[in-house]
Amino acid sequence: MRNYTGIREQRPDTLTFTDWGGESREAAEQYGKKCLARADRSFSQGLQCQQINSVMALLSMEDSAFIVHSPLGCAGCCSMANDWFRVGQAHRGDFPLRNARIIVTNIDEKDVIHGGEKKLREALNLAKDRYHPKLLFIFTSCASGIIGDDVDAIAADIQNESPETIIIPIHCEGFKSKICASGYDASFLAIHKYILKGESKGKTVPGLLNLFAPPTVSFADQMEIERILGELGIAVNYIPFYSSLEKIRRIPNAQGSTAICKVFADEFMKELEEKYGIPYSHTIMPIGARNTDKWLRGIAAIMGKIEEVEDYIKSQQEQYLPLVADLRRRLEGKRVVICGGTGRSFAGAALINDFGMRLVGMTTPVYDDDVQLDVQYLNELYGSFTVDIGNMMPFEQVNILYKLKPDIFIGVPIWAARLGLPTTHVLDIKRPTMGYRNLVYLGNKIASQLENPGYNKKIAKFGTLPYKKSWYEADPFTFIKEW
Ligand code: SF4
Repeated sequence: MRNYTGIREQRPDTLTFTDWGGESREAAEQYGKKCLARADRSFSQGLQCQQINSVMALLSMEDSAFIVHSPLGCAGCCSMANDWFRVGQAHRGDFPLRNARIIVTNIDEKDVIHGGEKKLREALNLAKDRYHPKLLFIFTSCASGIIGDDVDAIAADIQNESPETIIIPIHCEGFKSKICASGYDASFLAIHKYILKGESKGKTVPGLLNLFAPPTVSFADQMEIERILGELGIAVNYIPFYSSLEKIRRIPNAQGSTAICKVFADEFMKELEEKYGIPYSHTIMPIGARNTDKWLRGIAAIMGKIEEVEDYIKSQQEQYLPLVADLRRRLEGKRVVICGGTGRSFAGAALINDFGMRLVGMTTPVYDDDVQLDVQYLNELYGSFTVDIGNMMPFEQVNILYKLKPDIFIGVPIWAARLGLPTTHVLDIKRPTMGYRNLVYLGNKIASQLENPGYNKKIAKFGTLPYKKSWYEADPFTFIKEW
């Protein structure tokens, strides 16, 4: 048994780094020799909490209610997750729009002294009486963990009184991990423990694929991916975004598993292989021609569709590569800096090579075995480039952008735009980004930003960044201290 705890820093089969900065060749070389320096930041601007990833992964599940057992502030990001949930409904034509059923226990100073268990019981009973859900999730927090509320025991107690509702505690206390993707893992561990329960597999359904998708996948991308797989004779069990208890229960019946994002359900798929013998494919996000080819070939290998997939890739290349050649003329040689989560940023870094663009810098929240493979591949494509291992460090980002002066920045644009750089992003929950067709859409989007930089230039003229000149002259990694 792998005995995975849900804390990504503690994965048994890979080294994981969250704080480092330097050149990509050095990173790959040092990591390969297991000599990459362990470090920490003596100053950090922000860090995404894993609790919100747990919430986002599950918030769109049908017939569900959610208890956030925390102070009110921890639940602040739930409004963003709820917004995504509502956007998803609108795109699916699911009107009238609903809000997610979230109750926050609002742990306060008194509860920190006397315990928050009474509030949790009240919230659970309220959710049951008000919503009659099939699934009732409890998200823990730093506060509930520190004061030692016995969330599992309370859940078990209420479960005994309410067999019609499955009560699922999710241990996503923010302090446990600096890697927000640990929150996804905490959700899957809980799904395994409280819904699948390791029960027998049942009959395998030939041609059924578990497709694990994070909440950042737009409905347009879901439809495109399902269309492509449908043409290959593969039926999709799309989970957990906009899914249901029934779909979760179908997981063990699938012939294979894959994920749209590299850091989503990767650990869970290993558990499924170990427990149910379901093979899985773990490659890259299907953004760009090369990545979509690679993603489909991974699926072909586990679903027995090698010939069909090769024929399909050939037909798509014939159809779309002439259009990409056209885009290449507009984008060739442009220098790019990318900042995003691990899945999208590495997919984006390979995508720009389809257009003849050049990567000069990128940010990744973590560096591990998977990232090492991607960086080695990108080193072959682009030679060395600047790597910033960190999550939500805009002060480092602006320093790097100021020094590298790329032609375009791909990522959340707020700070780069204030430097007057053209910006766009591939983290788009509202528009298409994946598969062959959408490659052309993305290329046009990047070219359009490059050819129309006026808006960001105006932002730079009237909106200033808060940093002194001395910071732009300093080493961007000044605050990263080796152990
Ligand atoms: S759970 Fe912890 S890290 Fe997350 S928002 Fe609350 S206090 Fe912050």
